[in-house]
Amino acid sequence: MKTIRLHGVGDLRYHDETIPVAGAGEKLVRVKSVGVCGSDLHWFSGCGIGDAKLERPLVLGHEFAGELEDGQRVAVDPAIPCGHCEPCLHGHPNLCLSIIFAGYGTQDGSMREWMAWNAQCLFPIPDSLTFEDGAMLEPLGVAIHAVDLAHLKAGMSVGVFGCGPIGLLIIQMAKIAGAAKIFATDKLPHRVEAAKAFGADHAILAGTNSEVEEIRAETKDRGLDVVFESAGTQDAVDTSFATAMMGGKVMLVGIPDEERTSFSASTARRKGLTIKMVRRMKHTYPRAIELVSKGLVDVRSIVTHRFSLDQAEEAYRVAERREGLKVILEF
Ligand SMILES: [Zn+2]
Ligand SMILES: [Zn+2]
Repeated sequence: MKTIRLHGVGDLRYHDETIPVAGAGEKLVRVKSVGVCGSDLHWFSGCGIGDAKLERPLVLGHEFAGELEDGQRVAVDPAIPCGHCEPCLHGHPNLCLSIIFAGYGTQDGSMREWMAWNAQCLFPIPDSLTFEDGAMLEPLGVAIHAVDLAHLKAGMSVGVFGCGPIGLLIIQMAKIAGAAKIFATDKLPHRVEAAKAFGADHAILAGTNSEVEEIRAETKDRGLDVVFESAGTQDAVDTSFATAMMGGKVMLVGIPDEERTSFSASTARRKGLTIKMVRRMKHTYPRAIELVSKGLVDVRSIVTHRFSLDQAEEAYRVAERREGLKVILEF
C-alpha cells in the first residue's frame, strides 16, 4: 500500500508498505479522506511540536475518515486513551498518561491506504456525510471541546482570535451555544471574510493594532465574556487578555510556535481572569456527527483545497502558505 512518511523538515517520501493486520480489538480501515492540520504543519516545517520531536520517519494525519472491510463508512477518533490511568478515571481521556495519538510521536497516522485502529474509536457516519465531512469531525471536536470548557452561556459576547478552521468552527459552536455577539480577528483577509460568512458579527483584520480599540468601542469599554485564542500567536494572546472583561475567561486553544506564552500579569490579575488551556477533545464524535448531519454546523464550506495522495507535498505547501482554509487529501 501507498504510505507517506515525514523524514525531515519538508521531506515527505513515498513508501510501498505491507497492509497492516488488525490486532485484538482493532479493525482495518481503508482511509478515504485526510485533513492537513496546523499541528501537522508543526511536524512538517519543524519536525516536532513543543517537546515532542520526530524520532523516526512518521506517517502524519489524524483528521480522517474511511471504510471498514464490510463497507461501513466511519469517522476515526485519532486518540486512544488507556481508560485506567488517573486522568482517564477522572474523566479526562484527552490527558491520558499513555495516550496513543495517530500521526504523533512514534504512532503512525493516516497518510496511507490502510490502517488498523481501535474499534471503539470508529464512529459510523450516515450516508449524508461525505468522507471529507468525516475527516472534518476531528477539528470540529476540538471546537466543541473548547466551547464546552468555556461554559459559554446564552447572551454572552465572545471573541475568536485566529480564524483558521478551528476558529471558524468555534465561531459556529459559539453561535449554537447562544453567543449574542461574536468578534473575530485574523491577519489574513480571506479568513476575515470567512469569519463573517460563518457568523461573526464583527470580523476585523488583525495586526493593525486597532482591533483592541474597535472591540473596546463596540462593547462600550466592557470587554468580552469569553475569548478564544485560536491562532497560536503572541499577538492573538495579547488581544485576548486586552479584550476579556472583568472576571472574564481566556481560552488558549492555538498551538504556539514558541515554547513560552506571555501575558500582562497585572492586567490578568486586575481583571481576575480565568485562563484555561484546551487540549484536544473528549468523546465529541457522536455530538459532532449529530451537528453536521442535522445541518447545524457547516464543515464542508471550510474545505478549500483537495489533493490526491500523490500530491501530498503540494498539499502541505499550500497549507503551509495558509492560502485557503482546510486542505484535504482524497484517496
Ligand atoms: Zn488537528
Ligand atoms: Zn489513560
